[in-house]
Amino acid sequence: QVKRAGGNDLRFYERTMNAASAERLAMEADLRHAVERGELLIEYQPVISARHLRPVGAEALVRWLHPRLGRLPPDRFIPLADETGLIAELGAWVLCEAARQARAWLDAGHERVRVSVNVSAVQFSQPRLLEVVADALRRSALPPACLVLEITETSLMADVESAAGMLRALKNMGVQVAVDDFGTGYSSLSYLKRLPIDIIKIDKSFVRELCENDDDAAIVRAIIALAGSLRLATIAEGVESAGQAEVLRLAGCDFLQGFHFSRPTPAAQLVL
Ligand code: C2E
Ligand code: MG
Ligand code: MG
Ligand code: MG
Repeated sequence: QVKRAGGNDLRFYERTMNAASAERLAMEADLRHAVERGELLIEYQPVISARHLRPVGAEALVRWLHPRLGRLPPDRFIPLADETGLIAELGAWVLCEAARQARAWLDAGHERVRVSVNVSAVQFSQPRLLEVVADALRRSALPPACLVLEITETSLMADVESAAGMLRALKNMGVQVAVDDFGTGYSSLSYLKRLPIDIIKIDKSFVRELCENDDDAAIVRAIIALAGSLRLATIAEGVESAGQAEVLRLAGCDFLQGFHFSRPTPAAQLVL
């Protein structure tokens, strides 16, 4: 469309682009104040033990209640937060809030509950992440072993050497590490033995057609077998049916997460 743009097409294109960048600038300005104005909220999605079918923890998923645009999912603002550096403040807020919530679950008698927090590519590349995590643990008095940091396979692969350093430092603090969206990163599997990882999260794209598609079933079984021989735990994301849950349980997957068990829910409405 752009290539063969005559006068009208080009003007249309420019106008659209200007509108898009104006929207982006406005979003950036709004995001700058989102934390202090209390517009962010966290929903928690239970992580279920496949063997006992009981919740063992929850993943924190951030949402933005935007004053004009309404409720925005993370895919609409985390990339912008990463690009603008606002992720530092946003990520620190999520970590503190999730750690505080996990501490509250412990205090309510839920033994050994774990909370998982997503860490973006930019957050993971910044040395100050270590202070932010230490600060969240100190302020909440949450035992480090109750905190799981989820890092996507893609951010781990961006720079395996510095990823290894960061992961070792996090492990020294006693927190757990999960590889998020595993299987989507076109990565070499050899990094798995070089990085101190505890958990592999099987991406939901392999779970969606697990019961209909033999190839997906074969991939999921291979991931679970690989994780098992490396002594890593597995969590399957995006479990939407009892059939998928059963296939995963029989394949030896340790934990399940998905709409079949619970949608992400504000902590106040969640029964863990
Ligand atoms: P993710 O960490 O892979 O999270 C899983 C996503 O799958 C979540 O989307 C969740 O709501 C959704 N999901 C859960 N169960 C099902 C299911 O059964 N079926 C389907 N189709 N989807 C399901 P959400 O909440 O929109 O989050 C999207 C991504 O945004 C997350 O992917 C994560 O990468 C990122 N994110 C979320 N919260 C944070 C945060 O606090 N910080 C950072 N840096 N990133 C975050
Ligand atoms: Mg995640
Ligand atoms: Mg994921
Ligand atoms: Mg994802």
